[in-house]
Amino acid sequence: MPDVLSGIFLREGLDRFFADLPVGSFSGVVGDNREVFMDRLEKPCWPAGRRCAVSITFDDALPVHHELAGPALEARGMRGTFYLHIAMAPCSDPMPWRALAARGHELGNHSLFHPCRRKAAHRAWLDKAFDLRRYEPTRFQQEVRVANAFLKLIDGLGERTYAYTCYDTHLGRWPNKTAISGLIRSDFVAARGGRTDQAVNVSRDLDMMNLGCFQADGLSLAALADAIHLTRDRGDWLILVFHGIGSGTHDLFVEPSTLNGLLDHLATQNEIWVAPVVEIAKWVRAASH
Ligand SMILES: [Zn+2]
Repeated sequence: MPDVLSGIFLREGLDRFFADLPVGSFSGVVGDNREVFMDRLEKPCWPAGRRCAVSITFDDALPVHHELAGPALEARGMRGTFYLHIAMAPCSDPMPWRALAARGHELGNHSLFHPCRRKAAHRAWLDKAFDLRRYEPTRFQQEVRVANAFLKLIDGLGERTYAYTCYDTHLGRWPNKTAISGLIRSDFVAARGGRTDQAVNVSRDLDMMNLGCFQADGLSLAALADAIHLTRDRGDWLILVFHGIGSGTHDLFVEPSTLNGLLDHLATQNEIWVAPVVEIAKWVRAASH
């Protein structure tokens, strides 16, 4: 049976299942119980009858994010997640980011210094001091926690998500490599992890500390629309990653017309839940308990 049909079938079955039960029969209930529950085949029944979820994320704290991306989302009633590299723009000028958070966007943690495994591709811009292969777990945890404290001073919030830098999932060198997911579990609601270029298939055994993500940089509007259609058909959660908006804003970028076209496309589709990563992650955690 195609995924689209099986999704509809399961939702109808759940409606019958819930019809005989009192409201609040299950743990993890938030509001209407049938809206938060996951069925026995591990497919999420997204809230308010929606078919899938999409999070739009922007990395590295570029000025174009609060100047263009945030307002573009807001104009269509949407909010995104902005993963801040703290030592860059937010450190010298935090106010635009505070304003962005006050308008309902998530300020995510993208580390203090953006350490990455310093392979050839990163050597031009990444100082040796921030080679993730040389990090100790304690240093990584302490830096991430200081970054969280900085972000709390900006937005006043105690819950947020993390985004792995350079999509790197481990620090240290073999045979002493350490998975980042295990180091951050107590500090975040969830983490955007490795690059999969696929949507997240939500299930009860999903590792919330390594959510796969889809890099949007450089793609056409048609390619992004295809990814969204596939996500909707499968009932998944697509986490899109953007860096620059327009040439000159970052080596990785999409044209402003591509971002605006994507947002216009999403705005016409009521069955797609567009929300910051932290919001959807909290729902998934509640639904899967
Ligand atoms: Zn980054």
